[in-house]
Amino acid sequence: MPESERFDVVVVGGGNAALCAALSAREGGVSVLVLERAPKSAAGGNTSFTGGGMRVPFRGLDELLELMPELSEEDRESTDFGEYTEEMFFDDLARVTNYRADPDLAELLITRAFDTLKWMTTKGVHFIPSYGRQAFKIGGKQKFWGGSPLEVSGGGLGLVESLTKAVTGDGVEVRYGTRAVELIRTGKAVSGVVVEDENDRYEIMASAVILGAGGFQANAEWRTRYLGPGWDLAKVRGTRYNTGDGIQMALDVGAMPWGHWSGCHAVSWDLNAPSFGDIRVGHGFNKHHYHLGVMLNADGQRFVDEGADIRNFTYAKYGRRVLEQPGQFAWQIFDSKVADLLQRDYYRIREVTRVTSDTLEGLVAKLEGVDPVRAMATLTAFNDAVQTDAPFDPTIKDGRATTGLDLPKSNWAQRIDQGPFEAFAVTCGVTFTFGGLKVTTDGRVVDVEERPIPGLFACGELVGGLFYFNYPGGSGLTWGAVMGRAAGRSAASAAADPQSQLAASQNLNRR
Ligand SMILES: Cc1cc2nc3c(=O)[nH]c(=O)nc-3n(C[C@H](O)[C@H](O)[C@H](O)COP(=O)(O)OP(=O)(O)OC[C@H]3O[C@@H](n4cnc5c(N)ncnc54)[C@H](O)[C@@H]3O)c2cc1C
Repeated sequence: MPESERFDVVVVGGGNAALCAALSAREGGVSVLVLERAPKSAAGGNTSFTGGGMRVPFRGLDELLELMPELSEEDRESTDFGEYTEEMFFDDLARVTNYRADPDLAELLITRAFDTLKWMTTKGVHFIPSYGRQAFKIGGKQKFWGGSPLEVSGGGLGLVESLTKAVTGDGVEVRYGTRAVELIRTGKAVSGVVVEDENDRYEIMASAVILGAGGFQANAEWRTRYLGPGWDLAKVRGTRYNTGDGIQMALDVGAMPWGHWSGCHAVSWDLNAPSFGDIRVGHGFNKHHYHLGVMLNADGQRFVDEGADIRNFTYAKYGRRVLEQPGQFAWQIFDSKVADLLQRDYYRIREVTRVTSDTLEGLVAKLEGVDPVRAMATLTAFNDAVQTDAPFDPTIKDGRATTGLDLPKSNWAQRIDQGPFEAFAVTCGVTFTFGGLKVTTDGRVVDVEERPIPGLFACGELVGGLFYFNYPGGSGLTWGAVMGRAAGRSAASAAADPQSQLAASQNLNRR
């Protein structure tokens, strides 16, 4: 056991937010240690499981090129990237969170996103167009449809690899298989952390601790306690290591619980996916293209407006709707008209629960657990209700809707009538939880009196207050990077000048 170890800054977690925080703290010239609960082979948290999509505002191709300088001439010419302004990002975030997103955190995310992604490129992260996931080829041209055309080269694993390389290259140790279990305090200030590894329990002292240890979605007991009955039955899409440790440690020293504790990000996820994420398949269990067809439950009924909005703005809330169905499952039904539009790395993988038939009746007969008579009646009524006056266009909200149904489909409604037909079985996959800690915009964790707790900082999934009910796709990684960078900077200055953080704490208290 290392005796009386001491670092200026200790970062708890090894995902995107924590690694960005570590890099940012190092820029302040202080010593930094990263603690990663997972063994090296499973490191990187939820971040590793992502496709690496990052939402960022941009005004046209010229700005995007600052983030993707290597984009080929051919790609520039054959792609319509559109634009996604800060105003559009504000509108989307406000709308999908039912206008509850904390305005200060929202402003921080949106106004710092571009600059932060640029900063990430200086740390070795490469961005590429997200053709497979966020664009459709229309008339020979790739057209992005969801305001989020960027992903990290190599996906989530590539992101963790690049950031880890940058961190270790900066002289930071990443200590794997080491779980932070308790914060140490000197007076009211956090002055270190108690950790456990396979063999030992010991203390590491620090001038500042940054918590980047994720939400509590991998903890079935907390899910049931906070999200509600039935959530114990959800599958966890990502890491098994985010069990709420960071949140608990902070609450234990008086931190303020904040945000949507009964809310989470949850999606349609392959019915037979394992209980926790499988890094070999990663996000491949996603089934996000319900907007191109319909979803039926065990009673043979539709239960959501599959075309209510661009799917980047519905997918994260529809997992909850699937969980609410009898047996916690649904079938997504498509005909051959959209077969080529189904995302290959979600719908054409080996680990997929899929049935096919040349006829709709034949398909319905194969939908395990579904009432076939009612399913057929639902599909017939749906087909009869499809209006054909607006042309089908998957790159915009095309207004091609049904009429006369109690539950409409508001966009992309097409008759399901052209074989072969296929169906995919889904359940609810929980991604991350929305509730967590309250922080200032420079990443200081505040107590229940809203005073910053000296020495304590946080970033990423375990921060509450930004996401409520729903989430704009691709925001989680951007949020982790923005807040991680801010928390790292603040922690480094606090470590370099401990008096300043006491003063900051007192000033904020006098606001
Ligand atoms: C399948 C999937 C696909 C996704 N796709 C996208 C996407 O394309 N774009 C996007 O923006 N978001 C996506 N997300 C959401 C995204 O993963 C999260 O928003 C983001 O990665 C959270 O980053 P984080 O650093 O806060 O948490 P994480 O990356 O989960 O990191 C938390 C870290 O804390 C460690 N830890 C936990 N407890 C302790 C402890 N006690 N001591 C030490 N370490 C601890 C964990 O091991 C882990 O390393 C996806 C998520 C999943 C699961």
